[in-house]
Amino acid sequence: MSEHVPGHDANCIFCKIIAKQIPSKAVYEDEQVYAFHDIHPWAPVHFLLVPKAHIASMAHVGPEHAALLGHMMALVPKLALQEGCNPYPEGGYRMVTNTGVEGGQEVHHLHFHVMGGPRPWLRG
Ligand code: 5GP
Repeated sequence: MSEHVPGHDANCIFCKIIAKQIPSKAVYEDEQVYAFHDIHPWAPVHFLLVPKAHIASMAHVGPEHAALLGHMMALVPKLALQEGCNPYPEGGYRMVTNTGVEGGQEVHHLHFHVMGGPRPWLRG
């Protein structure tokens, strides 16, 4: 089935997660995006927000992705509170997008880390 999904890369672990070929703990899902808990959390709250279409990294983002990325950014405040991040300004969260090998990217499917919860937990 997955080979019929536009934008699906059969060799990509996040595409397999999106296609439910690999289990994950869902945070949010719609036609364009999926959010799920990171398997190795760095913080009390740590989830990943990914586009369903396979975009390898921020280096592959262009003007054609503006609406999709806007949709993703607008979801973050809602999902962060939903998952237990405390409200701004005493609470809050960190967003990270690693890009390329020198940027520390290990999974080459665009994703936004959202991390929060009581400190200390910050890494790097
Ligand atoms: P990157 O270094 O590419 O920015 O981060 C990739 C993230 O994906 C890591 O934090 C890692 O723990 C997470 N990850 C890798 N494989 C899986 C998986 O199979 N399931 C889940 N839920 N997270 C994963």
